[in-house]
Amino acid sequence: MVGVVAAGSGVSATMAPARAEGPPTPEEYVAHVGGDAKIVPSGQLKLDNYRMQCGHRPTVIDDQLDDYGAAYPGFLILNSKLMSRISTPVKLWIFSHECGHQFRGPDEETADCFAVQRGRRQGWLTPEGLEEVCRFIAPAKGDGMHVSGSHRCEYMRKCYDDPNIR
Ligand SMILES: [Zn+2]
Repeated sequence: MVGVVAAGSGVSATMAPARAEGPPTPEEYVAHVGGDAKIVPSGQLKLDNYRMQCGHRPTVIDDQLDDYGAAYPGFLILNSKLMSRISTPVKLWIFSHECGHQFRGPDEETADCFAVQRGRRQGWLTPEGLEEVCRFIAPAKGDGMHVSGSHRCEYMRKCYDDPNIR
């Protein structure tokens, strides 16, 4: 979760009854939410002009998602309606943050760090872009899952400058 919307962490709770054992597959997720939700196979997702990759994981486009992005074990979810309103570096950061959950687990700061270090390494996140990300998450208030935006930013700036991959 990016955690911009306070209610964002409720999605997994909503989905849990859909399948008694374990998280849903992308197909089950799409069938459950219905509407225009669709699966974009790994390697085919483009955000602006960037082809996005998260290992071999597909992305589900779900415009009813109550946040910009979310991660389930094995796939990512993006709300393309919300994503269309934000700048390119913020979009790529959101995708990479959700990808960070795939590889590094549920911790938000770790996913943030994964995203900025990937952005720096791949060349799409400049220091200016990082400040755009900071402005984007600034309104997020801290809750059980997400520490406040300014705290996350402080940590992301450190990660961005850290030559060691965390
Ligand atoms: Zn998250």
